[in-house]
Amino acid sequence: MESLVVLITYPLFPYLEQELLRRGCHLLRLYHSPQTNHLAFLRANASSIRAVVCDTHVGADAAMIEALPALEIVSTFSVGVDKVDLVKCKERGVRVTNTPDVLTDDVADLAIGLAIAVLRKLPAADRFVRSGASKKKGGYPLATKFSGKRVGILGLGRIGLAIAQRAEAFNCPVSYHSRSKKPHPNYKYYSSPLDLASNCDVLVVSCSLTDETRLIINREVIDALGPQGVLLNIGRGPHVDESELVSALVDGRLGGAGLDVFENEPDIPEELFQLDNVVMTPHVGSDTVETSMAMADLVIANLEAHAMGRPLLTPVV
Ligand code: NAP
Repeated sequence: MESLVVLITYPLFPYLEQELLRRGCHLLRLYHSPQTNHLAFLRANASSIRAVVCDTHVGADAAMIEALPALEIVSTFSVGVDKVDLVKCKERGVRVTNTPDVLTDDVADLAIGLAIAVLRKLPAADRFVRSGASKKKGGYPLATKFSGKRVGILGLGRIGLAIAQRAEAFNCPVSYHSRSKKPHPNYKYYSSPLDLASNCDVLVVSCSLTDETRLIINREVIDALGPQGVLLNIGRGPHVDESELVSALVDGRLGGAGLDVFENEPDIPEELFQLDNVVMTPHVGSDTVETSMAMADLVIANLEAHAMGRPLLTPVV
């Protein structure tokens, strides 16, 4: 790792930068240069950058990879690799690593937290108390029970399975859709997102973002979930047709939504701000100190393995 030149695309967890510096890496921070100068910055440092550390804000696209002829490895501080051009990396022989498993619990915890927050209207109840309304007006309107609701999971991968296990503890019957049926006899498999949505009360999107899963939640799926249904998205914003989601929520054709991710982050449709049946978080699925530390350690361990010619711990490419 000594003297490895690493491009950091976005301000990440400070511990990660500190640990890379402690190991003798030379860090170049793309985020210190204005967006319009990114390509010029890359070209000016093209011959020295051998590693990129990126995340879901600023990944490694084709233009970046092409601009860096000495690039050997892209290590993303995320499990999702939708912001890394994997095809270009394969073409160029650039290795790619991600941070699976270590973040699974946090993202699954957040999904369940969002389900309860939406159905029990926790943010609105909190606002009600803080405004003093509970003193003046008395009781808060009845909410909806979460325990026992039918939970449908779109993408029964690491995170999807952890959500299923948590939902079971709430006595929720669990069903799912993935590209293939899994060996989980307790969970009913549906062969399409539409069938899944038609047969659940709470639909959780936890699949990876690919060309096939972009807009997988369309108007038909939203309407199948219906006015009593709740959509949770802890996957990626572009899974959902956001304008259809907004109009379904505004028109009352969908019961509620818990959203950690959005189509054009950090921009969020303002219509959602007015709705008490929508709970939003700013893409913080894995954002705890403990998990950020574990993700940083995994990024570093992958870079170290690469620098020392050892097998990568969590290779994607
Ligand atoms: P994973 O284990 O690879 O699971 C991905 C799941 O997506 C698999 O079950 C896969 O099932 C399913 N899938 C892929 N293509 C599909 C398709 N065309 N139709 C239906 N299902 C499909 O990944 P993970 O660790 O669980 O992470 C899942 C995703 O969560 C990540 O890719 C990331 O985008 C997102 N995430 C978000 C946050 C956040 O902060 N909100 C944090 C971490 C991760 P099959 O292979 O059986 O099809």
